[in-house]
Amino acid sequence: EKDARIEAIASSIRVVPNFPKPGIMFQDITTLLLNPKAFRNVVELFVNRYIDKGITVVAGVEARGFIFAAPIALAIGAKFIPLRKPRKLPGEVISEKYDLEYGTDCLEMHVGAVQPEDRALVVDDLIATGGTLCAAMNLLERAGAEVVECACVIELPELKGRERLNGKPLHILVESR
Ligand code: AMP
Repeated sequence: EKDARIEAIASSIRVVPNFPKPGIMFQDITTLLLNPKAFRNVVELFVNRYIDKGITVVAGVEARGFIFAAPIALAIGAKFIPLRKPRKLPGEVISEKYDLEYGTDCLEMHVGAVQPEDRALVVDDLIATGGTLCAAMNLLERAGAEVVECACVIELPELKGRERLNGKPLHILVESR
């Protein structure tokens, strides 16, 4: 029954070859969002997993992580924290740079959003090389939170992003290539 839900999720994700550049198989979750049952299934599968884990913070990675992180946070009664690209957050921030194929990127988090006793879940749509989730976890841990787990809808296992998470558990719903 869980497998039927996963199947429906997987088949509602559109794969767009060579976007945004040649060689990339872009996993487009906007088609999943057009299917309310599949979207609800994603949120429910994560909520069922995390409802009794003592999670006090759900951190979502800009931008597609927000879409899944916010409803999970509401359903489990946790704070939602947006992890944003530079110069978007108006308050005092801490930042974490990470490497891309070409150049670097950066995530920021508001100082004071996290308390040292917080137990955090990090949510994004997809893990590729793992650099984004690694930066996200560093932000939360620098603020004193314990990162309990990372959660993504999709994993690209060939890129071995899991190996960059320093042993932190990662829960995914769908594997793709
Ligand atoms: P990474 O830091 O390499 O794990 O890349 C993960 C981030 O880049 C996530 O925020 C994804 O939304 C985005 N991303 C990377 N590769 C893809 C892909 N093939 N399809 C869709 N999004 C991707």
